[in-house]
Amino acid sequence: RTAALQELRQQHVPRGVSNAHPIFAARAQGARLWDIDGKEYVDFVGGIGVLNIGHNHPLVMQAVQDQLANFTHTCFQVVMYEPYIRLAERLNELAPGDDPKKTIFLTTGAEAVENAIKIARASTQRPAVVSFTHSFHGRTLLGMSLTGKASAYKQRFGPFAPEVYHAPYPYEYRGWSSERSLEALQELFQTDVTADQVAAVIIEPELGEGGFVAAPSNFLRELRRITTEHGILLIADEIQSGFGRTGKFFAIEHSGVVPDMITVAKSLAGGFPLSGVIGRAEVMDVPAGGGLGGTYAGNPVACAAGLAVLDVFEQEQILSRSVALGTRFRERFLTLQQEVSFIGDVRGLGMMIALEFVRHPETKEPAPELVDRIIAEARTQGILLLKAGLYGNVLRILVPLVIEEELVGRALDTLCAIIRAT
Ligand code: PLP
Repeated sequence: RTAALQELRQQHVPRGVSNAHPIFAARAQGARLWDIDGKEYVDFVGGIGVLNIGHNHPLVMQAVQDQLANFTHTCFQVVMYEPYIRLAERLNELAPGDDPKKTIFLTTGAEAVENAIKIARASTQRPAVVSFTHSFHGRTLLGMSLTGKASAYKQRFGPFAPEVYHAPYPYEYRGWSSERSLEALQELFQTDVTADQVAAVIIEPELGEGGFVAAPSNFLRELRRITTEHGILLIADEIQSGFGRTGKFFAIEHSGVVPDMITVAKSLAGGFPLSGVIGRAEVMDVPAGGGLGGTYAGNPVACAAGLAVLDVFEQEQILSRSVALGTRFRERFLTLQQEVSFIGDVRGLGMMIALEFVRHPETKEPAPELVDRIIAEARTQGILLLKAGLYGNVLRILVPLVIEEELVGRALDTLCAIIRAT
């Protein structure tokens, strides 16, 4: 059945929709997924960071069914509903910082990013935005323009949006220390755009698509100091790093930095399409009524799912599970690094962990072919994996944080054996 569907897919679905994983899902539960031919996989991808609490969590499914029985859509601009407001209330309480917060909901991560920039521009009346190299902020025109990772995401899709500037991400393993990156940012303000023209700086506290590189805390604190000094708003894009993935609810919390806005999506609604911008009320209230939203924005079923996700976080101690799982994976990977020459870097916060593969530890020449081989072999042996990074040489692990003890032990043993034998 897989072969037949793959043929139909090639006939009817364009190439731009990646062909990398010829697996067709039949059903999924927790950290497991079964394909249409009955093969079972342990899911170390989680829908690319969407399933921090696993597939089909019973509490989420129940909340969705309850909401489905009431209504599925009104458009909040016409008729508002309680799940939207309750979810905003809870996220406002969770976001770091003492200032009062407000939250808007949208549908996709890229839309959350777009809206955060709109709010920043309205609030500062400045045109420019600074983002970082290696970053990923979405596939819309502005999201793509902000994206620093030059790859298939951007090829042949220009011209890009104006007034977007890129500063180097502090990627220590590739030679960009915090100090060097900060110097380059200050230089950008001298040469390309003056700081008083910049509405916002947007940063992923830990790069997602860019290869799970966490910005050092001292870098983020200095970035906060510089942005505050120049009246620039700081936006943390937590679409991939948020919702407990790094062991804190938001990755930025590891640094103690309080951003002006946070973009969220992916694991926010446990598998249902929902995104949001949480920000300081003073900033969020600037755009006039009707300026923010969209027909499907903040869908009531997705908001109900989002509320259930937060209940699961409380009831199942998801944050401490993320820390414990992260420690376990990191220790195994660090041991593995001692045994082979091609693991250049083991890194990441909590359970947002990645391995960077190189041809030689000294030259650090990227080895994407190793990652491709590992992913293919893991797929054969029943583990779903995904790569990341500008050079495609980073293996990222996005295991659902609710994975059972026995399953994680077995899958980790298999994965380490595959890597060792590569
Ligand atoms: N920002 C970050 C950090 C992401 O990782 C992603 C998606 O991978 C996005 C934005 C875009 O989200 P979406 O694909 O839902 O538009």
